[in-house]
Amino acid sequence: FTSSSTRPGLHIIHIAAEMAPVAKVGGLGDVVTGLGKALQKKGHLVEIVLPKYDCMQYESIKDMKALDVVVESYFDGRLYKNKIWTGTVEGLPVYFIEPQHPGKFFGRGQLYGEHDDFKRFSFFSRVALELLLHAEKKPDIIHCHDWQTAFVAPLYWDLYVPKGLDSARICFTCHNFEYQGTAPASELTSCGLDAYHLNRPDRMQDNSANDRINSVKGAIVFSNIVTTVSPTYAQEVRTAQGGKGLHATINSHSKKFVGILNGIDTDAWNPASDNFLKVQYSASDIEGKLENKEALRRLLGLSSSEIRRPLVGCITRLVPQKGVHLIRHAIYRTLELGGQFVLLGSSPVPHIQREFEDIRNHFQNHEHARLVLKYDEALSHLIYAASDMLIIPSIFEPCGLTQMIAMRYGSIPIARKTGGLNDSVFDVDDDTIPDQFRNGFTFVTADEQGFNNALERAFNYYMNNAETWKELVQKDMNIDFSWDSSASQYEELYDKAVLRARTASRS
Ligand code: ADP
Repeated sequence: FTSSSTRPGLHIIHIAAEMAPVAKVGGLGDVVTGLGKALQKKGHLVEIVLPKYDCMQYESIKDMKALDVVVESYFDGRLYKNKIWTGTVEGLPVYFIEPQHPGKFFGRGQLYGEHDDFKRFSFFSRVALELLLHAEKKPDIIHCHDWQTAFVAPLYWDLYVPKGLDSARICFTCHNFEYQGTAPASELTSCGLDAYHLNRPDRMQDNSANDRINSVKGAIVFSNIVTTVSPTYAQEVRTAQGGKGLHATINSHSKKFVGILNGIDTDAWNPASDNFLKVQYSASDIEGKLENKEALRRLLGLSSSEIRRPLVGCITRLVPQKGVHLIRHAIYRTLELGGQFVLLGSSPVPHIQREFEDIRNHFQNHEHARLVLKYDEALSHLIYAASDMLIIPSIFEPCGLTQMIAMRYGSIPIARKTGGLNDSVFDVDDDTIPDQFRNGFTFVTADEQGFNNALERAFNYYMNNAETWKELVQKDMNIDFSWDSSASQYEELYDKAVLRARTASRS
């Protein structure tokens, strides 16, 4: 185990279900790595605890080895052994937990979407704390993320503080309040929590069903710090419409609740050094962007006859949250306006996947539109670099990373003003925003008309004013979306929580 006693700074342990690039489904994976790296750079000891999935990108893990220890953990009335692996991902020390449970919890070929997800992740949350206890860790902060590791908060106070793992304050970040991890109250007992004691309206009871518990609610109640991933989303979830049933809980814990905009990992997302691109480029030399556009067109079999035909990209999970009806509409509208469209996306929702497969087939040989319906990290990089515009017409968007990545690659965002998009994309035509912050095209109403207005204005700028467009591209590429300032905000929250704990223990 890593020794932690002599390091300056705080000892921060993230317990999470995702970490880019080894185990990533969406933004959560990017945040764990990006925030972790930024905090490490500021002199803190940062460690990560992850499940050892069978479907991880193992080639991105350095020095992976099994430890000569077995951690036994309680579940469903008995103890199960867990094999512990360590390795380094993006310079961060990671513990991987491999349960020796007959349910083969992390050997399913996918991270989520299994019938027993609640069981799998409540099991994982418990082993993660058992590992910290066993390894005699004395973290200052245990940071858990989303419903999958929300169990850590009640487990910590109810079971692990009494066992002596008591040095930490708990920080919980909710990356999306749509996913709350609810189950019949009795299922909570599997991981050792007391369902009778916790199934109360002021604790873990789901706000809309008194025989169910809600793990995200539990983490809100039992954490010292609760954050979400943008200031606007933090406001939205405090309303009945945005809180998905948790607004009352969030409001009654509002003192410890704050929205901090995510950053992006500017090393991983850097057009000047990105090996996935045909040609690297930078804000001071954007010619390379055109070569990437050509490369993408060739790769996907799109027409290259006009270099300046605008290329509109979309990189997303195809779920209702992302505005799938507007994404579908955008393909047709872009073609009508004389542009090219590339979609990279896949859907966990079978009817949406089928619908987009039909559209993909329809455009199979089209010279100006291509749909690639899979998850493809390498292709995503090339699309960010190649496209002139990127659409993000989300119905709601806790933070959103694609608009920031797009800007870093000089692709201008066309986004709906919601959540983190509202905190990072500012309309070029909005006179109420200082000129230096205007960086894209936005719309408010989530309908075709609203979207058309933004897309058409973007096309007009692009077609009629090449020089202004180029300036906009360069301006966007120079915006600082690194984790630096967001990580400082987390650091401040951690410091305050640790200080409060120390003051309290002295008095
Ligand atoms: P969410 O977390 O809701 O999926 P975000 O915008 O926060 O949305 O993060 C999405 C991340 O996943 C980005 O890094 C984006 O590039 C990546 N991504 C989404 N879909 C795909 C895909 N089909 N292939 C490759 N990367 C994808």
